[in-house]
Amino acid sequence: MNPIAADTHYETYLKHYFGYDSFRFGQRDIIESAMNDRDVLVLIPTGGGKSLCFQLPALLKPGLTIVVSPLIALMQDQVQQLETNGIAATYLNSTLSPQESRERSRNVLAGKIKLLYVAPERLLSDEFSMDFLPQVQASVGVSAFAIDEAHCVSEWGHDFRPEYRRLATLRSQYPNVPIWALTATATERVRADIVAQLQLRDPFIQVSSFNRPNLYYEVRAKTRNTYDDMRSQVEKANGPVIIYCLSRKRVEEVAAKLVKDGVKAIPYHAGMNNEDRSRNQNRFIRDDVRVIVATIAFGMGINKPDVRLVIHYDLPKNIEGYYQESGRAGRDSEPAVCTLYYGVSDIKTIEYIIAQKVDPVTGKPLEEEQRIAKQQLRRVINYSEALECRRTVQLSYFGESFAGNCETCDNCRFPKPLEERTIEAQKFISCIARFSQKGQNYGTKYTIDVLRGSKEKRILVNRHDQLSTYGIGKDRSPDEWKMIARSLIHQGLLDEATDGYSVLQLNDLSWEVLKGSRKVFVAIETQKETTTVISADTDNAQVEELLTKLKALRKELADEQAVPPYIIFSNATLRLMAQQQPVTRSKFLSLSGVGDRKMSQYGEAFMGEITAFREDNGLSVAGATVGPTKTITPLKTETRAHVTATHLDTLGLHQQGLRIDDIAEQRDLRRGTVMSHLELLLENGYTVELDRLVSRDRSAQILQAFNQTKLDSLTAIREIVGETVSFDEIRLVRAWWRRKK
Ligand SMILES: [Zn+2]
Repeated sequence: MNPIAADTHYETYLKHYFGYDSFRFGQRDIIESAMNDRDVLVLIPTGGGKSLCFQLPALLKPGLTIVVSPLIALMQDQVQQLETNGIAATYLNSTLSPQESRERSRNVLAGKIKLLYVAPERLLSDEFSMDFLPQVQASVGVSAFAIDEAHCVSEWGHDFRPEYRRLATLRSQYPNVPIWALTATATERVRADIVAQLQLRDPFIQVSSFNRPNLYYEVRAKTRNTYDDMRSQVEKANGPVIIYCLSRKRVEEVAAKLVKDGVKAIPYHAGMNNEDRSRNQNRFIRDDVRVIVATIAFGMGINKPDVRLVIHYDLPKNIEGYYQESGRAGRDSEPAVCTLYYGVSDIKTIEYIIAQKVDPVTGKPLEEEQRIAKQQLRRVINYSEALECRRTVQLSYFGESFAGNCETCDNCRFPKPLEERTIEAQKFISCIARFSQKGQNYGTKYTIDVLRGSKEKRILVNRHDQLSTYGIGKDRSPDEWKMIARSLIHQGLLDEATDGYSVLQLNDLSWEVLKGSRKVFVAIETQKETTTVISADTDNAQVEELLTKLKALRKELADEQAVPPYIIFSNATLRLMAQQQPVTRSKFLSLSGVGDRKMSQYGEAFMGEITAFREDNGLSVAGATVGPTKTITPLKTETRAHVTATHLDTLGLHQQGLRIDDIAEQRDLRRGTVMSHLELLLENGYTVELDRLVSRDRSAQILQAFNQTKLDSLTAIREIVGETVSFDEIRLVRAWWRRKK
């Protein structure tokens, strides 16, 4: 009995609920497939509008959509965002008291909720799957299972979670309920795994490009000055910053050092207690503090859209993880920077971590796991040392080919010149050859000291000042020699011992270099311009000034409601506001990112700020209608009115399970007005749950009368069905019948 909304309305809903005027690439096709009860596999990178692909169909379809989400922070953030858009969403998780849980469950069963977020463990628990879920199915019905972060189902992903595997039971228990799998990251292998593990049936697959054009990627070599370089980047960044470190200890150190140097930074790592951790997380997402230093554990559940800089102060363990972590920058599609500091000592640290992967019982090395980890590390090294476009390297990892010349990575912007260093290589290698003739092994630093003729005691004691290679490398600085040594090792022209000591050893290729049968080229690390932080197009001073005021107002409102500022309006919407300076309802509502709910909640405050600003600056505020908003006079159905915002407000409340009288009361409208809204919505194919308004046998009886008589008259039908049936009931069924006709 529930007509599915005709597809022509998707845009109306999009504007009403989410404030956007049009869909982004691929979203519409996904939504259509979801509305047609197909299984769906969606791969949209971070910031590409992935959540909307299941949230909108969930609102349009009758019944409840269950969203599986692995992390508490993630589900809370999404629910909060939905709630500010006036959408009936909730979550069940361990942070709730039993009483709260019971209340939320009751609301679900009463049909007041459209989206329910749960963790897989809860969904699969006996209590939930054997007791609660069947009740939901019997009362409101389950419209779909949306599996977010679906890559967690695959061992080949970087974030495997065994409990995701068990989600396959959903298919056997609810064979007719569609499954929508969504992820922001998955290689081809992982995609195939998702389809197989979740038993998707002929899914509609949408893979968006993994390219995030608004991100600037760069790799910087670690030097003595790395900390200062990093700090100056942080200071220049014009927005929130995340700094990732490999260990808790490093996190603490770096955060403390930044604070000492006057940068307000807070730590985040698994060693902190839950309370401190979530407090720091909140301070960051609410813009109370701009810089967070964290282990990679941070950010999994964070949807903060306006991060402008992500720094990997230590080397990441694999490319997929790096893509995700760096991808926390610029989710609002505005320019952001991702910097990775690359040092050879990090490789040692990660190799050490890999070597610790042993069977907890037998203590034997987990060879397979170690092998995969080593291979992943190799890719990170290749990425870091690549001379070609960073995007080409990254995207190839996701099976996507990219032509290069992106102009927004360091290698495209500042191509590294390759220079011949054959003579230097020969000097360096022959010095090592001299050591090994004496059966000795030394590391890079010692070798450089000998080449540069150091008078260090150790060298004199070893009588290495007597070697023919002593002092032959004075013409190059220690840093230049280090660069050459590093390149020789990475090119495989020299070996570094793997037994834990970083001593150098010759191999076959080293001898080719020595004999002169192989030339050596080294990518020269130039002192590159460090001000790579790209800022959004700067507007004139007046716009910037208003933007600052609007941001302050946003922060004030956010603090009042204890929500992150971005939940109220995104930076992009605020910028539009500052540029267009709307002072009328219709203009304000036309801004991208302003939906009906946000209009009614915040429109007045922001228009007030804009008006004040314009007055202060001697600008016209003609046409301003700031002040109490008028109730829109309902349109009569007879005029074949169009569905407008007021109708959709009624629809929203209806979908939350409110009865007609409750809607009338809440909206301060007459009952008849609400009725006419529902009638119009039904006639236009919106998802009005007729069964809740007219009992099934009555609607069947009324429908039969319409079908038999083909009359469009309320009174005529009333005569047939009898006086116990109300005109309202007949009107509603007539609207449905008209639609079907
Ligand atoms: Zn590039």
